[in-house]
Amino acid sequence: MTIAIVGAGLGGLALARVLHVNGMDCVVYERESARGARGQGGMLDIHSGQRALREAGLIDRFHAIARGEGQDMRLLEPDGTLLLQEDTPEDAPLERPEVDRADLRDLLLDSLPEGTVRWGRAFESARDGLLRFADGGTATCDLLVGADGAWSRVRPLLTDARPVHIGQNIVEVGIPDIDRTHPGLAAMVGRGNYWVLGDGLSLAAQRNGDGRVRIGLSFYNTPEDWFATSGIPFGDPPAARARLIDLLPGWDPRFTALIAACDDTVIPRAITTLPVGLTWPSTPGVTLLGDAAHLMPPVGEGANMALLDGALLGLALAARPEDFPTAVEEYEREMFERTAAAARMSADMHELLTSPDAARKMLAFFRPG
Ligand SMILES: Cc1cc2nc3c(=O)[nH]c(=O)nc-3n(C[C@H](O)[C@H](O)[C@H](O)COP(=O)(O)OP(=O)(O)OC[C@H]3O[C@@H](n4cnc5c(N)ncnc54)[C@H](O)[C@@H]3O)c2cc1C
Repeated sequence: MTIAIVGAGLGGLALARVLHVNGMDCVVYERESARGARGQGGMLDIHSGQRALREAGLIDRFHAIARGEGQDMRLLEPDGTLLLQEDTPEDAPLERPEVDRADLRDLLLDSLPEGTVRWGRAFESARDGLLRFADGGTATCDLLVGADGAWSRVRPLLTDARPVHIGQNIVEVGIPDIDRTHPGLAAMVGRGNYWVLGDGLSLAAQRNGDGRVRIGLSFYNTPEDWFATSGIPFGDPPAARARLIDLLPGWDPRFTALIAACDDTVIPRAITTLPVGLTWPSTPGVTLLGDAAHLMPPVGEGANMALLDGALLGLALAARPEDFPTAVEEYEREMFERTAAAARMSADMHELLTSPDAARKMLAFFRPG
């Protein structure tokens, strides 16, 4: 029985690794030309997903690359009021450590036998177990797993659902080598997460393992075409920074100083999600995992769910190597329930972030009563 996984993201690679440790082969088809072809983005906080890394036999190596101090948290209001500061003690358990997405992906990639990942193979379509790729090539499989992210090409084989914009548009900027270039701002942001929550917009800064501070400015309750009408000239980074500062009227000068210190990387990200609780009738020969199955607002669940999906599908297939359809059905039953709960929680958090007085509500979330 051959297993083809489309997508070498966290979920697809977790599946490949768990299959491998259980003595099963697979092939991962990835459209990127090489592992370093595209920047992998910033930090992820990994909590429930640690179970997947345990099943993959990688938990010790994960702990070696995870940053416990990345759990630090500062929550502020736009006028500069500090509402919450939590610093992680040296001996605190690694409950939600931060890890560089690229480091985590490398850990998974390095744990697979040579040749498992076929780079530069962009999946286009499948019929009766025959896969077609953009380069004209074909392959066959008994089980096709769509681990190909938000805009999955495998998903239409199972459902008509498509991601829908949720009124959040993020502009991502960043300050490289902040300790050397802006030590005052480095001390202000600290070792982990630094959140400023205003009405209808937020600033989330986060220190990355390579000394860069990534900053996401989220504009809520904005339309899908907002970037085109926002007046942010993405092709002119200094002018884009000036416009972003204009979009934070009345914010404490320390926050706008963060934007002014950024380099010329200015990335727009429109946020879309799939319907909460999406399911499909189980179909022999094809299934989905990760964002392809349950794209959620980016509040810290997606990567964890993708890792878990991959590991749990791997275990289900290893338990029934002669009966993939039943293994897939069992995997989907558990996955639908678990990820619907995570998607509901993520949608609630998204609503909190978009509502008036978000900072105080977030404080109450962290310090109930
Ligand atoms: C700004 C932001 C911050 C986030 N922070 C967190 C966090 O702190 N914690 C957390 O848990 N989650 C976080 N997430 C969510 C998390 O990044 C995703 O949920 C997770 O990466 C999903 O993993 P995946 O393997 O399903 O898909 P992906 O990581 O998207 O991987 C999909 C792979 O498939 C490949 N691919 C796509 N199409 C094809 C094709 N046709 N053929 C072949 N290959 C293809 C892609 O190149 C990619 O390598 C965040 C998301 C965003 C946007």
